[in-house]
Amino acid sequence: MDAKQAKKTLEEKKNQLEKQLKESNEFPQIGYSDDDNALEVEQFQESVGLQRNIKSLLKAVNKALKKIDEGTYGMCEVCKEKIESGRLKAFPEAILCASHAAEKAKR
Ligand SMILES: [Zn+2]
Repeated sequence: MDAKQAKKTLEEKKNQLEKQLKESNEFPQIGYSDDDNALEVEQFQESVGLQRNIKSLLKAVNKALKKIDEGTYGMCEVCKEKIESGRLKAFPEAILCASHAAEKAKR
């Protein structure tokens, strides 16, 4: 995947994530009974977890976009080797090669 294509993909992903984040920010209004309130709290807690995921993904996407501008996109941050193209296709926001990403996940 070339940088131009990656940028387009990442920008689309960014827009999508920002939209999701905005939507998950709204406190659900289901009703006014105790059951409804309990459900609202449950859904809100779920969306807090969701927001955390979206935010960290958004951070990764922004970082990858910055790397495109700097001309270092597709390079592992640790070993500076090229990130596997199949990996970039699946995770365009990847900034680590497969082995270093696995290493980081272990820690
Ligand atoms: Zn690496």
